[in-house]
Amino acid sequence: MIYLNSLNRTFVSSKLDDVSLSSGFTTKDAGDGRNIETILSNLRINQIIFKKLVVAEQIHSANVEYYESHDNQIVEVVPETDGVVTSEKGVVIAVRTADCIPILYADKSSGIIAISHNGWRGTLKKISARIVDEMTGHGAKREEIVAVIGPGVGLCCYDVDEERYYTFMEEFESDLGAFTMRGGRRHLNLAKMNYEILKLAGIKTEHIDFFPFCTSCDKDKFYSYRRDHKKHPEKFGEMFSYIVRN
Ligand SMILES: [Zn+2]
Repeated sequence: MIYLNSLNRTFVSSKLDDVSLSSGFTTKDAGDGRNIETILSNLRINQIIFKKLVVAEQIHSANVEYYESHDNQIVEVVPETDGVVTSEKGVVIAVRTADCIPILYADKSSGIIAISHNGWRGTLKKISARIVDEMTGHGAKREEIVAVIGPGVGLCCYDVDEERYYTFMEEFESDLGAFTMRGGRRHLNLAKMNYEILKLAGIKTEHIDFFPFCTSCDKDKFYSYRRDHKKHPEKFGEMFSYIVRN
């Protein structure tokens, strides 16, 4: 279950409740995550002990990188990647989103954690399955991996053109139950699509947590690219999501 921690106004998953981990999906209350200083100050306010913040550059790819630190810089951007895997303690891995889906992953037994930014392009290229492969390649057990799908644009607000629908159909040979027709337009449920990809990658359904809200509908809690980027650029920002081994 994903719930709002009222102390720090951050969403957390009960499936990641563990003294060995800290994690969360922020709301607008945390400020604009495009600014690295915002992320650093939030981590400090929440008393998370860390030695480094590592963020993915995010280029809407399915590129995944296994991260090991090799210097003492406090902030590092991993270039040309949308997913980061690590087992190093004290390394906060983070992504920024506003409608795209952030996913957190952890195998508590091996201590391998990961994060990904899943827009439609990364989802089409199955970045979440690539993360699972990268984790198991470094010793995680597939049957132990927990995946938590964070806040993104809902089916309600994500209409797409026919071409995109057929692109997914070609890739998956099924719409995986993630497309619905509404008002004569196809609507994509990006979270559901990622849920199905995780299941196909061998993640147990009881190990997948799911976020029930839509970033575009809930103006008070979330930034939304679709809602604000063009029409209200002054209101636009990005939430951030993070996970770290303590
Ligand atoms: Zn919506």
